[in-house]
Amino acid sequence: MVPLNIDGKALGDDIAKFVIDNHEALNIKYVIWYQRIYNVERADEGWRKMPDRGGDTQNHKDHPHVSFQTDSKGAPKDAAGKGGKGGGSDDSDDGNADNVNCEADGTGGGSGDDDIPDDGRKNPGAWGGHKNGEIPTDKLKKIPWTPDSKKEYLRKDATEALIAMNKAYKKEFNTDIAITDAYRDLAEQKVLYKRYGPGRAAVPGKSNHGWALAVDCGGGINKFGSPQHKWMQKNAKKFGWEHPPWAREGQKNQEAWHWEYYGKNKETEA
Ligand SMILES: [Zn+2]
Repeated sequence: MVPLNIDGKALGDDIAKFVIDNHEALNIKYVIWYQRIYNVERADEGWRKMPDRGGDTQNHKDHPHVSFQTDSKGAPKDAAGKGGKGGGSDDSDDGNADNVNCEADGTGGGSGDDDIPDDGRKNPGAWGGHKNGEIPTDKLKKIPWTPDSKKEYLRKDATEALIAMNKAYKKEFNTDIAITDAYRDLAEQKVLYKRYGPGRAAVPGKSNHGWALAVDCGGGINKFGSPQHKWMQKNAKKFGWEHPPWAREGQKNQEAWHWEYYGKNKETEA
């Protein structure tokens, strides 16, 4: 806890800055401080405002809330323990923020992301109780301008958002967004994995193509620095589409062509 005065605010600012500056070494996922959240995976958006949850504790004005990356079992990775000491901050000395008493609006579910404000955007992933690559066709919607010889599908809302984005894109470039791939069923993922292997193709059953929430684009979007790619970087987010952090330029497995549907950001809908 930090005192609720100007010194406390300064201390919290320092802690938050320290944690963000050292996010890699400390395995930081996100920091909440002063009713704002900074998510390392969404660093390009910086600090984002959070809804008022009532008190100073709920609004994280008396303590910075630090969340660490966890392994698949939900335990913090090795470096997490350093956070408490290094940051000199969190009241939970194991660095695990789950038991910190500030998740007042608990949306349930028990996932580590519960205290990220619901602004309508989520990392793409499992939905509807379906299995990756085994989604029934009636839950999907065809991307209208893909040819009958190579029909491409996405989850309905993702296709709707793509249609809206395509309208804007077409105004600028006078052509549809070229789609080279979208939903991939399990068989298709296995073929690609065999052909390209780890790094170039996702492990079958893990790909966001298998959740019908990813597209691969051509027509220039597939080249970093092209006008088409730049347009996407600037505009896709308005339609709920994003270039995921791992695919960005300079990343080991960079893929200019791969875009994912995160959903609409309510803040930008107005
Ligand atoms: Zn892809």
